[in-house]
Amino acid sequence: MNIDSIQNGVVIDHITAGKGMKLVELLGLNESELSVAIIKNVHSRKMGKKDIIKIDADIPFNLDVIGYVDPEATVDIIRNGKLVEKKRIGQPEILKGVIRCKNPRCITSVEQELKHIFKLVDGEYRCIYCETKAD
Ligand code: ZN
Repeated sequence: MNIDSIQNGVVIDHITAGKGMKLVELLGLNESELSVAIIKNVHSRKMGKKDIIKIDADIPFNLDVIGYVDPEATVDIIRNGKLVEKKRIGQPEILKGVIRCKNPRCITSVEQELKHIFKLVDGEYRCIYCETKAD
């Protein structure tokens, strides 16, 4: 794809350099059939270096994932080749189904269909069931 001419899609910009790959993995984009470009270590006047992800498809996705990986990232929505919306994400208070609790004794590892939910407490995400810290 020509990454500079997305017609309908999403550009995740201002990602802290090095976090682009993690974001792609958590969004499940590395396993998808979509046309996705990760541009790493782009020179940025404001940030020094940054990563950018371009998705050439009009897909809904979980903005909380982006806020979890990098609250400073911005999301540009492109329709018909034009920027129609620029979103700032910020740090989500609650993460639902974004990351998994690693505690083997947590109820979420017994009740498989239970959603993994984390809450932001003092700048850290903790499982709402067992209070295990997310890493
Ligand atoms: Zn837990």
